[in-house]
Amino acid sequence: MEDCIFCKIIRNEIPSTTVYEDDYVKAFLDISQVTPGHTLMVPKVHVADIFEYDEKLAAEIFARIPIIAKAIKASDPKIAGMNIINNNGALAYQSVFHSHIHFIPRYTKDDDFA
Ligand code: 5GP
Ligand code: ZN
Repeated sequence: MEDCIFCKIIRNEIPSTTVYEDDYVKAFLDISQVTPGHTLMVPKVHVADIFEYDEKLAAEIFARIPIIAKAIKASDPKIAGMNIINNNGALAYQSVFHSHIHFIPRYTKDDDFA
């Protein structure tokens, strides 16, 4: 998709900090961090939302959730948990219409990331 911001990130036309990348997905830091390490994973194929997934894409994406979650957790011993979230559709607060999964690390104490 020519004008899609996440397609541009996948093509390295706009900068991002890559957390993980392979043939199927790219994971990069969210520009607006809810907590440090907040990461987005996107399929490399442009799909607006999960309603457009077929079974094969769903399997590829789901298989990578634990890979990326573990990589983020390994980056900081203070990470104690993680919210893994998808906002699917405008009414569900999706704002970028290239499907993505949020990984939001949770820390033992609020001041762990002060
Ligand atoms: P949504 O609301 O669609 O679930 O989440 C979209 C996310 O994309 C937001 O958390 C927002 O901060 C992030 N985002 C929007 N534009 C950019 C960008 O240009 N670069 C990066 N890294 N994240 C972005
Ligand atoms: Zn796209």
